[in-house]
Amino acid sequence: MQAEWQKEAAMADASDEFASLRAAFILPEGVYLDGNSLGVLTVAARDAVQNALIGEWGQGLITSWNAAGWIDLAARCASRIEPIIGAVSGTVAVGDSTSINLFKVLGAIALKAGERRRIVTDAANFPTDIYIAEGVVRLLNSARGPGEHWQVECYDRSELFAKLDERVAAVVLTEVDYRTGERIDAAAGVRATHAVGAQFVLDLAHSAGALDVDLNHWDVDYAVGCGYKYLNGGPGAPAFLYVAPRHQATFVQPVQGWLGHAAPFEFAKGYRPAPGIERAQVGTPAVLSMTALYAALGVIQGVDMRRVRAKSLALTDFFMRVIEQSGLAARGLVNVTPRDPARRGSQVSFRHPQAYGLVQALIQRGVVGDFRAPDIARFGFAPFYLQFSDALKAALAIADCLKDGELLQVLDADRNAVT
Ligand SMILES: *Cc1c(COP(=O)(O)O)cnc(C)c1O
Repeated sequence: MQAEWQKEAAMADASDEFASLRAAFILPEGVYLDGNSLGVLTVAARDAVQNALIGEWGQGLITSWNAAGWIDLAARCASRIEPIIGAVSGTVAVGDSTSINLFKVLGAIALKAGERRRIVTDAANFPTDIYIAEGVVRLLNSARGPGEHWQVECYDRSELFAKLDERVAAVVLTEVDYRTGERIDAAAGVRATHAVGAQFVLDLAHSAGALDVDLNHWDVDYAVGCGYKYLNGGPGAPAFLYVAPRHQATFVQPVQGWLGHAAPFEFAKGYRPAPGIERAQVGTPAVLSMTALYAALGVIQGVDMRRVRAKSLALTDFFMRVIEQSGLAARGLVNVTPRDPARRGSQVSFRHPQAYGLVQALIQRGVVGDFRAPDIARFGFAPFYLQFSDALKAALAIADCLKDGELLQVLDADRNAVT
């Protein structure tokens, strides 16, 4: 069996159209399957940050806002992200975190929601999305006059669309479930949401840079997403925010900072939003972080995301197949990621009673995945730098680790703060 898998992996790697990109990434020893949590450093980002640190900041100081183009760095990042998520030019802003960007989007929706008072989301959504929605609602309700309260409602994905009516202001969904790796049908979500006249907000945290996202064709209203996951922007990299062309003119977000002003350097009295997507900006950008993100985006510029998606699916399919054929279900490993490619993101997750211990045992062998409470071991497949031989190594390491039940128990008992 193993020889056959090895042959299959070698053949797939030999015909990998992204193989030449691998050298652009500084890969750790072993197999890194956590690019969905923190993408790896690129050579370009390392060099660009060094230059920004020593040259632009160290020597150029304040002149670098103009001379090094810091002032339009966010806009340049945005133009590199737009094609990756199927967005037309001028619809993406880069800055702040995904959480903050969701606050801006929900605030903007609330400002033009009329009598609509319901925000509907997935009960299994990433917690920050739900927390942010609840925070917006709390603020709205505390300032409310007479009338109905705002509320956040969480439903199971299977029944969510049946709950919609004309009182819904927004539906907030994440395209890929961070636990199970299930991909939703975003276009169908948009249709159901628009059928009741509500706005569809999509979180692309686990999509951008790995999936063939097509915001414009899907007719998504608003989207947010991370710079540090599959986009490889580095820890805490600036996030992005998308506003559909038809909402641009009426998009007014509540975090009215000076860099979203039409003329920031007039230092005028009274906020006047910038004419385009710039109004999503708030304050001074994190230049060093954004420099890393911009350079990392340069590495994948011009790639066809449908081809990237095809490789990602082939990688996860191969990985799941080796695990299945190794009979690991008998050792308590349960695949919770859809086999159907249309319903799968770019990760594979398993339930296991000692999932935390399993992830620790794998890390000791150089195979890095992560644990998500209560019992999920998660393996992300970043298609730009991973090979089929990596997927095979990881699957074989999992099989090996599962043989040592005692070690898993010991490792499972001692948990770190960041899992
Ligand atoms: C990772 C992730 C985030 C992260 O938000 P930050 O504000 O960058 O911490 C948000 N939403 C989802 C669905 C995520 O997976």
